[in-house]
Amino acid sequence: MTTPPAATGAAIPPGQAADFGGPVGHGEAKRWFANSLAKGCLSGSFLLVGPPGIGRAALAKWIAKCLLCDESGERSLSCCGRCPSCFQVEAETHPDLVQVRKPEDRAFIPVELLIGPAENRMREGFNRDIRLRPFHGTRKVAILHDADYLNDEGANSLLKTLEEPPPDSLIFLLGTNEQRQLPTIRSRCRIVRLHPPRGEQAVELMRRRGIDCDAATAERAIELCGGDCQAAAEVLTADGAKLRQAITQRLVNPPISPVDLAQVVTSVIEDLGKAASAAVKRDRLRDILSIAIDTFRQQLIDSADRPEQLAPIIYRLDRSIEAIAQVQRNANQTTLIECWAADLARGNPA
Ligand SMILES: [Zn+2]
Repeated sequence: MTTPPAATGAAIPPGQAADFGGPVGHGEAKRWFANSLAKGCLSGSFLLVGPPGIGRAALAKWIAKCLLCDESGERSLSCCGRCPSCFQVEAETHPDLVQVRKPEDRAFIPVELLIGPAENRMREGFNRDIRLRPFHGTRKVAILHDADYLNDEGANSLLKTLEEPPPDSLIFLLGTNEQRQLPTIRSRCRIVRLHPPRGEQAVELMRRRGIDCDAATAERAIELCGGDCQAAAEVLTADGAKLRQAITQRLVNPPISPVDLAQVVTSVIEDLGKAASAAVKRDRLRDILSIAIDTFRQQLIDSADRPEQLAPIIYRLDRSIEAIAQVQRNANQTTLIECWAADLARGNPA
């Protein structure tokens, strides 16, 4: 995370209370929030960034729970987990927790969710809800999920709120990367970068998802999935291992058959069922492409002493990285899969 201004007053010494509770990992971020709260100066606008599945929303929600908990001390980053406020935050029904998400069927966060519909401008929406006096305690917390999907109009409508949030309120914007935000948004938020868990924390995260494995396996799976811990757990299940094998097998032994490869990828996505949302399908495709990237990276290492073989491997690796970027840009899946498979089979630029 960006280093906040030097702290004064009672601070939590490093090493003490290494785990504050709440979601696994993010110790550095938790420590900073705990220190600020202990000093009575925790408020403002924050941009939490990290790859999908790393736990941005879980961390923001846990901090909200700590701040709104009826039982925990005013200046303690902790929550009881049992009081009505804790239950309401968990159920996302707490009146002092304001949340906005991008609707599944929209390409961007509709500006109405931020400033109200045309007939009720400024009298509804995120900007107004965060300014209402707290219903229950003394604080308000707002979480704007999917901040990557703010268009210019939406982003501009937030500037004043982010610049001057109401006293004792906290605003979290959750995104994958600060570069996806306008400079005017970035400059108004403290940027908090979340990192994938390592070592025992990675093991613990997998254990909570029903996977028993060692630290190296957990770290590798999380890295393979670009920091997405849920996807990593899925990769480590028996089905995940089978999927990995099916994809890897088709990539390591040229010639790659584009038709066969596209069919396998499509059927893996179709296995999710008709009810699966576009986002879930996108995540699955991203996992498959991550497996491909990992496979080509490994090939690159294995072929280091055979320079004549490197060019097609590097091309396939780059092409798969490009495909992930296309997934994130919501490209048409069928076209994306077919073009990617065809390019991999060719092994060099058209
Ligand atoms: Zn509580």
